Amino acid sequence: MEKDEEALFKKTCQIKDFPSLKQNLETDILVIGAGLCGILTAYKLKQSGKRVVVIEKGKVASGITQNTTAVISAEHDTLYQDLLAKEGLAKTALHLEANLQAVDEYLALSKIYDFDFEIVDAYLYATEDDERIIKEADVLQRLGVDIQIVDKTALPFKISHALKFPKQAQMNPLKLINHLVQDLEIYEYSEASSIKKNKVMVGPYYICANKIIIATHFPYLNHLGMYYTKMYQNRSYVIALKTKEKLDGTYNSITQGGFYFRKYQDYLLIGGNDQKTASNMEGFSNLISFAKKYYPKSKITNMWANQDCITLDDLPYIGRYSNFNPNLYVATGFNLWGMTQAMISAILLTDLINNQPNKYQALYNPLRNPLGKKLFLNLGHYLKYLVNFKKKRCPHLGCALVYNEIEHTWDCPCHGSRFTEDGKLLDNPALHDLK
Ligand SMILES: Cc1cc2nc3c(=O)[nH]c(=O)nc-3n(C[C@H](O)[C@H](O)[C@H](O)COP(=O)(O)OP(=O)(O)OC[C@H]3O[C@@H](n4cnc5c(N)ncnc54)[C@H](O)[C@@H]3O)c2cc1C
Repeated sequence: MEKDEEALFKKTCQIKDFPSLKQNLETDILVIGAGLCGILTAYKLKQSGKRVVVIEKGKVASGITQNTTAVISAEHDTLYQDLLAKEGLAKTALHLEANLQAVDEYLALSKIYDFDFEIVDAYLYATEDDERIIKEADVLQRLGVDIQIVDKTALPFKISHALKFPKQAQMNPLKLINHLVQDLEIYEYSEASSIKKNKVMVGPYYICANKIIIATHFPYLNHLGMYYTKMYQNRSYVIALKTKEKLDGTYNSITQGGFYFRKYQDYLLIGGNDQKTASNMEGFSNLISFAKKYYPKSKITNMWANQDCITLDDLPYIGRYSNFNPNLYVATGFNLWGMTQAMISAILLTDLINNQPNKYQALYNPLRNPLGKKLFLNLGHYLKYLVNFKKKRCPHLGCALVYNEIEHTWDCPCHGSRFTEDGKLLDNPALHDLK
């Protein structure tokens, strides 16, 4: 079988088609962007009794969500020990609680809809002795999670030890989205451009909404919020193999150069080589060698790459977009854990818009103080590519583009916009093709 350069989930589900916008509209809520975050948020807001309209510049779920590996987990690498050191126990406990609530929300949806949801344990493993596993387990145990440390797993190679976080989950995100969109008012191929107060331009038409939610992955309005100063994107590579070998959980490596794993039906997904967009030279090669070594009888069926927004303090930005427009909201910066963070966004934004108190509001407030060492490093990186004599520049903020030899694309090292060789826009925050 020839390798398919598309993500595995795409061939498992045909999402319903929607019309494009052909008239002006008025609504309670406008959600811009129909990825997992936009759709979950629209679904919850509609359930709360609001009239909700969703607009999407391509097809529903044609952005980052279609390329995810869809592990639903509150276990996020060494996040909790890092947060404890930086933010203290109360905020660390709150973030864990939000993620666990998100897992429960998916469980509740699985009682209504079939989206290949499965409860599985989430493992964080090391192949070399690494005290961070024990430290993470200690923090999680302190926060009440029933963590076990094991030294054997179903992975086909020797590990040093692993942390087992019980009862997390995995799913097919496109199947879930296809259920949730059935009763939503959605306009496809309808790209939002300028926003003035409560009016959003969509080609020659406009939509007036009491509240507007930007769920476009990287927020596309630069002049408000300045998300370009406090976020960048990391790219990651994935292959899928057809194999009968079993895997009893989801696996994530803590060791440099290690891979992550999950099973979906007869396929094993293996991913890794996470790095800032425009700096990865490894691509798929070590994933392919690994598959040949450990799964010699299995065929690689799919290979793809994908990227996500990374925040400077490891927490997402969910809430008010900026101080200048009280009716504009955002959900972004999911740090490669967008399944739970998109669900948290849906819960929090629904409460905020309905004037209900929500204990996560301050923790994820996008307007929290971004000052810190990472902000200066991020700005320094930006300046390095801005003050550069290369001709090919990103139309977003003018950084010099870098050629990606693995995917044959032009990638922006500052904020992660990407373009085909002939200049067509692939990934935002840029809004236009290269000239
Ligand atoms: C390789 C990889 C694997 C991952 N695996 C996992 C995992 O196992 N578990 C996990 O929790 N997370 C995972 N993530 C992260 C997760 O996939 C993302 O955080 C999540 O899918 C982002 O969803 P989203 O809705 O914010 O973005 P998107 O899915 O990109 O949705 C945004 C939508 O907005 C639309 N849009 C943009 N601009 C406009 C505009 N102006 N007008 C109208 N529409 C617009 C886009 O077309 C797009 O459809 C992974 C990420 C990567 C890179």
